[in-house]
Amino acid sequence: MILMVKLLVIGIDAATWKVIKPNIDQLPTFKKLINENHSDTIVLGKDYTILSPAIWCSMFSGKSVEEHGHKKFVKDGKIVERKDINVKFIWDILNDKYDIRALQVPFIVPPYNFNCNYEPVDYGLSYDINDLEKSIDNLTLKAIEILEDNPDIFIVVYNELDRLQHFHWGEPIVLEFYKKIDRVLNRLIKYSDKLTIISDHGFCSKGEARIQTLPDKNDKGEELKGDHHEEAILITKNINYTIKKPEDVFYAILNEMEQ
Ligand SMILES: [Zn+2]
Repeated sequence: MILMVKLLVIGIDAATWKVIKPNIDQLPTFKKLINENHSDTIVLGKDYTILSPAIWCSMFSGKSVEEHGHKKFVKDGKIVERKDINVKFIWDILNDKYDIRALQVPFIVPPYNFNCNYEPVDYGLSYDINDLEKSIDNLTLKAIEILEDNPDIFIVVYNELDRLQHFHWGEPIVLEFYKKIDRVLNRLIKYSDKLTIISDHGFCSKGEARIQTLPDKNDKGEELKGDHHEEAILITKNINYTIKKPEDVFYAILNEMEQ
């Protein structure tokens, strides 16, 4: 066992039990994680917008969407930047005491990095299948490079499933990408004995969503097939804090590091 990193948080944007559970025998890492550890469903309350930037921002700031006020990547025609969001994130707070790194947290575009540098494929916005595959591969190489450097806390977020599922929900390619993520998890989780694996929201077919988060078609006229669902996934290993809503992740990290 390598186990060098005290705490590892892996975010998987838009990961849903709706794909994982019926296909669990094809997802050996998820299967092992679920069987051996705590897993749960996070149900986003009615006050949630079910928009990725808002939820990732809550998760790592400990603030509700109402408190931090950040909902979308673009506000008043301008791309929102880190400095426009008036919160302290977990990395801002723990940086004095710990070596904490965050890679590709998608509360802004391109996704945010803390104490590391990374340039995502196509600013992390492409939904082309080859780009999405490359995006997962490149991010995993970078994640392993950071993990090998032995930080105290490492946070990494994969946002490819969100981009894929909007256009391919219900198609076999979706499971292929979950298998790819499963293999990534297998490579990353051996670095730490304290794990949190979480999605910001789930996914469903378009008409099924409580709130439609995107238009029917994108700017190229391509039809969107899926949308965000209010049920997110959670798997934790050796985390002694109950995570019931996104902002609890902030307190769970704080709690673990203060023990
Ligand atoms: Zn999302």
